Amino acid sequence: EAKSQGKNRYVVYTSDMYHSSMEKLKLETDLRNALIHDELVLHYQPQVCNHSGELLGVEALLRWNHPTMGMIYPDKFIWLAEETGLIVEIGKWVISEACMQNKKWQKDGYKPMKMSVNLSSEQFFRASLVGFVKNVLQETGLAPSNLVLEITESMAMDFEYSLNVLRKLKRLGVCISIDDFGKGYSSLNYLKKFPIDSLKIDKSFVRDILKDDDDVNIVKAIITLAHNLGLRVIAEGVERKEQLELLKSYDCDEIQGYLFSKPISAETFESRYSSLLSDIKLLC
Ligand code: C2E
Ligand code: MG
Ligand code: MG
Ligand code: MG
Repeated sequence: EAKSQGKNRYVVYTSDMYHSSMEKLKLETDLRNALIHDELVLHYQPQVCNHSGELLGVEALLRWNHPTMGMIYPDKFIWLAEETGLIVEIGKWVISEACMQNKKWQKDGYKPMKMSVNLSSEQFFRASLVGFVKNVLQETGLAPSNLVLEITESMAMDFEYSLNVLRKLKRLGVCISIDDFGKGYSSLNYLKKFPIDSLKIDKSFVRDILKDDDDVNIVKAIITLAHNLGLRVIAEGVERKEQLELLKSYDCDEIQGYLFSKPISAETFESRYSSLLSDIKLLC
């Protein structure tokens, strides 16, 4: 059926979840309305310094508060947003919301931190991206260095185009991170040319780090590679103290995962802020 579709996620979710094109159409209609009815929400997950145990930033992760289906996670609708092109509008909302929230927290007296935002390739390959980011930074007054754009290896496919976009984004002063590093199939050639700041080790490598020597070696190699290229390296999906210890011993710069916190709403972040900071410090 969908064999010719390059996107595995499309195949998986259409066959798993959507028994008819009607259901898919319903979800698409709902998703169009989601923006208008303000049903999208960002949750925030801490990113922690391995050395100091300080909160360095948060990653903004999109959720959809569906009126009847409840909270829907990105793996269940981002593919549809991409397929329908809705991701462009949604992605813009995510960038503005994340920047506004970060600026608001700074105004409210929270310690300045970085805000990471995921970009989909549909967004990345739009001519309007750079101008949009520039406007949001101007309108919110957020320091550009407090915004991190997470791209994936797939965006390195069109080398010249991507290099050009990334250079423009860098000129604005934002940070660039390669998400899910090691998961894609791209060559490593782009690493020496692209103006990037950090690599995020895909959580599939972190998951079994306590029992699988191959994963240990891959993770160590990524950390060494990043450091030799002058990049910071972040491990995602860290759930256990033992994983943290191991990653610390490999000198991984930043840690993100359920160990410190699941992604939480802005309200929860605020109400838990001080205990969150002290819990994180204790774990480190
Ligand atoms: P990602 O960018 O790699 O984000 C990390 C994912 O890992 C998040 O899933 C997060 O909740 C999850 N995670 C964090 N720590 C742990 C852990 O310790 N254990 C486990 N098992 N999982 C952990 P989430 O929020 O469901 O998002 C899934 C993916 O959806 C993201 O992966 C990202 O690729 C995409 N996504 C999320 N928000 C956005 C968005 O605003 N725009 C776009 N284009 N994509 C987004
Ligand atoms: Mg990410
Ligand atoms: Mg991502
Ligand atoms: Mg990831």
